[in-house]
Amino acid sequence: MYSKILKLRFPVTEVQKPLVCKLALEYGLMFNILNAGILPRKEGFMVLEVSGSKKSYKEGVNYLKRQGVDVQNASQEIKRNEKKCTHCGSCTAVCPTGALSVKRPEMVVEFDQQKCSVCKLCVTACPPRAMEVRPTKQLFFK
Ligand code: SF4
Ligand code: SF4
Repeated sequence: MYSKILKLRFPVTEVQKPLVCKLALEYGLMFNILNAGILPRKEGFMVLEVSGSKKSYKEGVNYLKRQGVDVQNASQEIKRNEKKCTHCGSCTAVCPTGALSVKRPEMVVEFDQQKCSVCKLCVTACPPRAMEVRPTKQLFFK
């Protein structure tokens, strides 16, 4: 089973269309919506986990792109500044996907970017502000 967390941005003209449902109906993909909203200029955004065969995944993503949807891999949006992280563990309590977890018995906090849904809860939960949003994409998730 192939699985990826994607971030989608929908142009104003496509926001009302059930494009994501077609991933299941026409391409047999499973999806789990992790984050969604409407941006100030009425564009829509969505972060979703998509699972299925690699072939179906590629076809589904190509379908979205043909509809004018901007499709990006979500795993690079949030980064951890390793120099600032003190491994205090605060972020693991708020992370909904398990992207941040405590490795035992070493008791260090690990960050698995592939599991990150870009909810940004860790950004404010981190005392030394070690979790950072990639600056060039901030508009997308405001
Ligand atoms: S809350 Fe911040 S400092 Fe603490 S473990 Fe998480 S990233 Fe590191
Ligand atoms: S943004 Fe932070 S809290 Fe949210 S899923 Fe990613 S690592 Fe976890």
